[in-house]
Amino acid sequence: MSDPWRKRCPEGHTAVTTRQTGGYYCQTCQARYAGEPHDAAADDAPDAPDVRWSYDVLEAVGMLYRETRDTETAVRARRVSDRPAAFGQTMRKARNRGLVEKVSAATSAGRYRVTETGERVAAQMVPQEAEP
Ligand SMILES: [Zn+2]
Repeated sequence: MSDPWRKRCPEGHTAVTTRQTGGYYCQTCQARYAGEPHDAAADDAPDAPDVRWSYDVLEAVGMLYRETRDTETAVRARRVSDRPAAFGQTMRKARNRGLVEKVSAATSAGRYRVTETGERVAAQMVPQEAEP
C-alpha cells in the first residue's frame, strides 16, 4: 500500500509526491493532480475496474473531440470520462499515434486536445446532425 514506486500519475510516472493539502504532484509532468495517485499494484488486481477496463484509442479520441469540438480546446480526462485513469492511459497511446496532444500547466492537471490528425479521425465518428 505504501510502496512509493507503486504510485503513478495518469501518465505512468513514478516521481509523484502526495500533498497533505490533497492531491499529488508529478515531477515528470510538472503537474498537480487531484485525488490519489494511481496505485500500480492495482494493475495486477483482476477486479480493479478502472484500470483493467480500457478505452479503444479511436473511441477515446472521438470522446475527446465530442467534448472539445476543435483542436484548440483542451480538457481534463475527468471531464470527458468517469474513468479518468483509464482514459489518461488511452490518451497516452493516442499521443503516440499523433492523434492528441497533452497540455500541461504547473498549476493544473494535464489536459488533452485533439490534433488536426485526430480531428480528421474523430470527425468521421461524430454524427454531423448532433450539432445543434
Ligand atoms: Zn507524470
